Amino acid sequence: VFQSTPRAPPDVIFNLTASYKADTFKDKINLGVGAYRDNDGKPFVLPVVKKADAILHQDPALDHEYLPIGGIPTFTAASARLILGADSSAIKEKRVVGAQTISGTGANHLGALFLSRFYHPGAKILLSNPTWANHKAIFNNVGIETIDYPYWDAKKRGLDLEGMLNVIKSAPEKSIVLLHACAHNPTGVDPTQEQWKQIAEVIKQKNHFTFFDCAYQGFASGNLDKDAWAVRYFESQGLEFFVCQSYAKNFGLYGERAGCLTAVTSTPDAANRVFSQFEKLQRSEISNPPAYGARVVNLVLNDPTLSKQWQDDLTEMSGRIIAMRKALYSALKKLGTPGTWEHIVTQIGMFSFTGLTKEQVSVLKSKYHVYLTDNGRISMAGLNTSNVEYFAKAVDDVVRN
Ligand code: PMP
Repeated sequence: VFQSTPRAPPDVIFNLTASYKADTFKDKINLGVGAYRDNDGKPFVLPVVKKADAILHQDPALDHEYLPIGGIPTFTAASARLILGADSSAIKEKRVVGAQTISGTGANHLGALFLSRFYHPGAKILLSNPTWANHKAIFNNVGIETIDYPYWDAKKRGLDLEGMLNVIKSAPEKSIVLLHACAHNPTGVDPTQEQWKQIAEVIKQKNHFTFFDCAYQGFASGNLDKDAWAVRYFESQGLEFFVCQSYAKNFGLYGERAGCLTAVTSTPDAANRVFSQFEKLQRSEISNPPAYGARVVNLVLNDPTLSKQWQDDLTEMSGRIIAMRKALYSALKKLGTPGTWEHIVTQIGMFSFTGLTKEQVSVLKSKYHVYLTDNGRISMAGLNTSNVEYFAKAVDDVVRN
């Protein structure tokens, strides 16, 4: 039966982590995986999550029953408020529905699956070039073809707004446009508010459907509301859209798989119909979502004191990342490393697109035991006060030679 099954290539990121783990060099650095690490390079359990854990463990009513197909209703409602704002008109007018999903990946998948069934047949999705490696696979898996739009301008090490707008403008009407809500992965470059307005305008003119992916709310600026600005602006423009939320990074709940797919529609009736299809699709795929991570998030988002603590935890994480950006930038400046490095401090979120070439990345790995993806992306969270100088010296060497 399996004679003709071809071997699939290993996943790049997970493979990189495996090589890092197998490396016995004591000063090795893993800048591949997008997971927050503390200043000792250790995984970080957010203090607010520890509090929520303790509350949940003491709850005598806590059981292991199935959740509803669409997930915990107070979790999906709080997720909508988190991204759209508590005073969102769409929420007040009952035009918003959400389903709890298997983290952000599951939200992307459920949204993609819905569109493959109920959106214009043959519509393609426009993805930024580059984008999160999984986007293309997720949409292709449900039969939706992808088109790239320019995003990263390698020369200026910033956003290619003109290229992006041109492709969105020239795509057939009613295409689907995927936008990273904040902290673009992998470039760390987001449009400004003025640029977001131009993007929304073109999408409106062309009757495209917006598919927001929001995996880093709170990680871009450190402020949850600020990071939701683009999504809220689209709502204010009367646009309908999906937004995928992941609680992997901003709650540090990577393995718990807590996420949400929210639909902003134009009428309460449309919202109800969409939700009925979310439930129908979800039933045959996962039956019902996993409980634990969503219970933690549900508790925190619905409790003002815990929410405040969460914001403080986010400020701590994003603050450490910003400090590492500054430390890396000044170390490179001090070494006089050839090239411009301002983008290290101007880029935001967990990642930085360094501009290092594939060959330079390869030397970083073989000579310095520093692990990062071939496109030169580094996870800033992998840097700390003990290894940032070592990394800067390694970069300096590979750039010069
Ligand atoms: N979208 C983007 C852009 C991401 O970077 C990630 C995390 N790497 C995700 C979605 C989803 O991740 P998860 O399924 O772990 O929530």
